[in-house]
Amino acid sequence: MKVLVVNAGSSSIKYQVVDMTDESVLAVGLVDRVGIPGTTLEHKPIGKDKVLIKKDLPDHTAGMKLVLEVLVNEEYGCIKSMDEIGAVGHRVVHGGEEFAESVVIDDRVKKVIKDCFDIAPLHNPPNMMGIEACQELMPNVKHVAVFDTAFHQTMEPSNFLYALPYEVYEKFRVRRYGFHGTSHFYVSHRAADMLGKPFDQCKIITLHLGNGASMAAIKDGKVIDTTMGFTPLEGLVMGTRSGDIDPAIVFFLMEKLGLSTAEANNYFNKKSGMLGLSGVSNDLRDILEAAASGNQRAQIALDVYYNRVKGYIGNYMAKLNGCDCLVFTAGVGENAIDIRENICKDLDYLGIKMDVEKNKVRGKEVDVAAADSKIKIFVIPTNEELVIARDTYRLSK
Ligand code: ADP
Repeated sequence: MKVLVVNAGSSSIKYQVVDMTDESVLAVGLVDRVGIPGTTLEHKPIGKDKVLIKKDLPDHTAGMKLVLEVLVNEEYGCIKSMDEIGAVGHRVVHGGEEFAESVVIDDRVKKVIKDCFDIAPLHNPPNMMGIEACQELMPNVKHVAVFDTAFHQTMEPSNFLYALPYEVYEKFRVRRYGFHGTSHFYVSHRAADMLGKPFDQCKIITLHLGNGASMAAIKDGKVIDTTMGFTPLEGLVMGTRSGDIDPAIVFFLMEKLGLSTAEANNYFNKKSGMLGLSGVSNDLRDILEAAASGNQRAQIALDVYYNRVKGYIGNYMAKLNGCDCLVFTAGVGENAIDIRENICKDLDYLGIKMDVEKNKVRGKEVDVAAADSKIKIFVIPTNEELVIARDTYRLSK
């Protein structure tokens, strides 16, 4: 059986076809600028050349329709007929407090995803558009929702509550949820395998460092804390998000800069973080390059980034009472040698010692800790699509 994995954003649809007999990927693709003039579909059948199709598409249904046509295309498709697709797995960002695991989508599940529009206005509505488009075009297969928040649902109130009047939790569900759960789930399980220990007996700190970034503390198979909160804005310094700040800065800058609520939201999510601080870029490659050629602001931005991550390592070591391994993943974590090295520098008191030679790797599963490090330091490429495909396959049987 083959599973179609779909990740629908506001103007994009990412997809992958996975053959569950051996979990091989048959094709990956991206429809970009859905509903905006200049729509493109980039399709990569594994082992064949990439195909680029330019065709304006008004909405997600039209986008998905084109994807399905491409999948069965004689020349560059990856399946003979749509009957080969046994189920569709959808990435859904917010499952609120309802879902601690993946579920087959029915009317009740759709209602919960819709109920979360309020607390995930940028993510859940496009995710829902993807679901509805796929259900319309593939009404006879099961559709499964895999939530970014689900893995973090094991957090206790002592870690998920904010010190705000309790009513706002009860009335408006203001609490910490955490995101990137599928990635933290995947790499922490791989880490347990690499440790050679049962997952439910490990203490693991995962560092998903991409353009968006978050960390999680996992104890005995359960997330006990994570850096993102009510929204993905909290926690680490990210490409364009500030991460933790004094909330009073929001009121202060709204007044000083005359920002509306929507503008302030945009300011802290899109104009801050490494982009705002360095003035160079949101891409850490550009910032590393600028710092290496003497740009002081770029260097300061990197130092702020490292310190924030180090602070959370200390925080999580305290909450876990020690740990077996750190895990670096996502674009930065998998590829940025210097960044991993700087984060792990001067943490030997905590039992973290990197072998800087071993650390000179990109995108491979490897332990880069020194032989005498108490704590292992793993680099593990993430694979959220595989988790979605596996859950979808399991639930569709
Ligand atoms: P997201 O899924 O959050 O968009 P990714 O996990 O794909 O992000 O990570 C993308 C980011 O990874 C880029 O913005 C870039 O900063 C970073 N990145 C990729 N390769 C490197 C590298 N070699 N050195 C530093 N940063 C890198």
